[in-house]
Amino acid sequence: MANYSIWVLEYAYVPSYHVSGIVYGAHNQGYRKLPYCYVLIKGQGTVAMVDVGYNEKDVGAEMARRFGVEAWQNPETVLKQAGVKPEEVEHIFLSHAHFDHMGNTDAFPKAKFYLQERELSKWVWAMALDERFRWLNIATDPGDVMRVVDLARQGRLELLDGDRDDVLPGIDIRKADDTHTWGCQFVTVRNGDRKGSDSWVLAGDLVYSFENLEGQDPKAPTQYIPVGLAVGSQTNLLFTTDQMVKEGGGNLQRVIPVHEEGLRDRFPSRINDHGLRVTELCLADGQRSLVS
Ligand SMILES: [Zn+2]
Repeated sequence: MANYSIWVLEYAYVPSYHVSGIVYGAHNQGYRKLPYCYVLIKGQGTVAMVDVGYNEKDVGAEMARRFGVEAWQNPETVLKQAGVKPEEVEHIFLSHAHFDHMGNTDAFPKAKFYLQERELSKWVWAMALDERFRWLNIATDPGDVMRVVDLARQGRLELLDGDRDDVLPGIDIRKADDTHTWGCQFVTVRNGDRKGSDSWVLAGDLVYSFENLEGQDPKAPTQYIPVGLAVGSQTNLLFTTDQMVKEGGGNLQRVIPVHEEGLRDRFPSRINDHGLRVTELCLADGQRSLVS
């Protein structure tokens, strides 16, 4: 019995990204592909997403060039694979404000958005700092922050201050302060009980890859390693990782790093005509598969 289907939808990728940006301290370990994805959740009569990607224009396009992003497709094309139109998406949980996660809110005209209040206010704070601090804004488009403020004006933004159980039935939001960013949140979808018997933890950028969850040496016991980019603390990242694993019922494989190309080896996946991947984490009862 599953209430929700969950797919990780790739909408662009960086063909060659430095591994030290993915795994903290992994210097001189070369480069690898870094997919850019958002998550589609469908079931219980609603359509929700975790994150929205970026928009390939203006500052978003400039930032994407700086990060070496290729193969971008718009949400209309990407969601079509699941038979969903952007205007049908009702709830969007924004994991954090980086451009590749929060940069395309405009593409979802009917959705209500959920973000931690601290994430919004701290980015405004960071924008106001002297330009010597601009490293903090390395992956943030101030225009995205302004667009989210405008969602508040439209009555389409819910700013959370902490955890929220059952934001939708069986879906929980968890706050992760001062980690990858100041007000990150992750999303737990419970298809089973509250102990995580059939839960999926959608991690945003709290982990980028399996190595952040499992360590770099497959023969060694499990070791959490922080992501390579954080404005908060490595210690907080490790404890948040442990919390995510517990929410996933203690199963490391239920914590989903969206920037991990290896998802294709662990879950049913398909590459579409644009060279982008669809990964199917689970199917609600009666939902047809998108990958078989
Ligand atoms: Zn990020």
